[in-house]
Amino acid sequence: MIYNDRNICILGAAISGIGAAVLAQKQGYHVFVSDSNSIKSADKLILKANEIEFEEDGHNFNRILKATEIIKSPGIPNSVDILKKAIQKGIPIISEIEFAARFTDAHKICITGSNGKTTTTLLIYHILKTAGKNVGLAGNVGKSFAMQVAEENYDYYVLEISSFQLDNMFQFKAETAILTNITPDHLDRYDYDFNKYIDSKFRITRNQTSSDIFIYNADDEVSTREIAKRNIKAKTFSFAINNDLIGDGAKANNKEIIFNINKSTFNMTLEQLALQGKHNIYNSMAGGITAKLEGIRKETIRACLNDIDQIEHRMESVGKVRGVQFINDSKATNVNSTWFALESINSRVIWIVGGVDKGNDYTSLIPLVKEKVKAIVCLGVDNSILRDVFEKYVDFMTETTIMNDAVEKAFYLGEPNDVVLLSPACASFDLFDNYEDRGKKFKRAVQDL
Ligand code: ADP
Repeated sequence: MIYNDRNICILGAAISGIGAAVLAQKQGYHVFVSDSNSIKSADKLILKANEIEFEEDGHNFNRILKATEIIKSPGIPNSVDILKKAIQKGIPIISEIEFAARFTDAHKICITGSNGKTTTTLLIYHILKTAGKNVGLAGNVGKSFAMQVAEENYDYYVLEISSFQLDNMFQFKAETAILTNITPDHLDRYDYDFNKYIDSKFRITRNQTSSDIFIYNADDEVSTREIAKRNIKAKTFSFAINNDLIGDGAKANNKEIIFNINKSTFNMTLEQLALQGKHNIYNSMAGGITAKLEGIRKETIRACLNDIDQIEHRMESVGKVRGVQFINDSKATNVNSTWFALESINSRVIWIVGGVDKGNDYTSLIPLVKEKVKAIVCLGVDNSILRDVFEKYVDFMTETTIMNDAVEKAFYLGEPNDVVLLSPACASFDLFDNYEDRGKKFKRAVQDL
């Protein structure tokens, strides 16, 4: 390794790290990849094929601290030893998204927010692709952004961007930024300070100018309050169900959405939306505004909001067994997403909830639980807070650490027309690899009934 000014070290060899390594190598950097765990064999093959040096199962501090720049995986907190040392030494630490954006002129449509990112990202990608645009899908969904910048030549990217990625973005500019909403999440990574998390989300508007676009949810109190305080330079558009809009955007009532954008107006009935539930009205409005601003025809927008496939692990209908409906909402890893899940159901619910609590305040769920939930099955290692908060509001509450057991218990409690809803409001890491693993095990358990 030659220690010159183009020395890049990549921490974390998962999807984003491998993509960043391939792009950096292609751009002529000296690249070193380091992972504190073992690297998947398929990823090692990619590194070897590209002649990229790497280490696994530990970090060589000496070598890493000689880097002139570090690209870190969003999963690694700044509190790990190697990053603390790098920060002390003043080595810039950036995200894969920041790095990859240096090497593309594509138009970047970026979606952030506490909930609805993936859904909104997939909706926008679906519309742009159907409209014939040369578009890539990246960020937290799809392939790595950096890998696509290295290997493809897209005119547009639709990027789902989490706050962890935003924290290490500095020069990056979103030509279109969408903020779906802001509610408390991941506070364990923000010193339990909601303001720090809010600041992180607003980094999506950093570097935007008056020729860029910023789209937000006018019903979201935190977003509107913060926008009033901040100097947003981009042209703003908003969407709402409850509040009036300031300027152009989309407004829904109980029958339809009316889009009003740059003097063009069109509508769409709520029944026509493929993704149902109040949260998806918001996501569909955000997607429709974005697409219209890209010049896509309203017929195409309507057709795409109508025909998109249901998205796995997000209010995914898994089927009925003896009249009991099962819904997989494993991706609901915070309280607000579960609020929308419960809100959207009009039957009696047997609710499977629990996992790793990231500092949750469950109070907002109490009215919905009183109104709709007849039984609760806790699925987590520590369910004490759930029991304290909810036990008095339901007829029956039980707990388990095994998915099959949770589904069997819920099914046993179910009567025709009831819904068994897995919407955990918590992260999955106490019992599962990730939310996908949890959702897949739920679906398998339903099949096994
Ligand atoms: P993210 O990528 O931000 O985690 P997803 O689109 O994957 O968001 O949805 C995660 C969960 O959040 C879904 O299971 C759903 O219950 C809920 N959800 C989706 N969109 C919204 C929204 N706009 N507002 C609140 N909750 C939402």
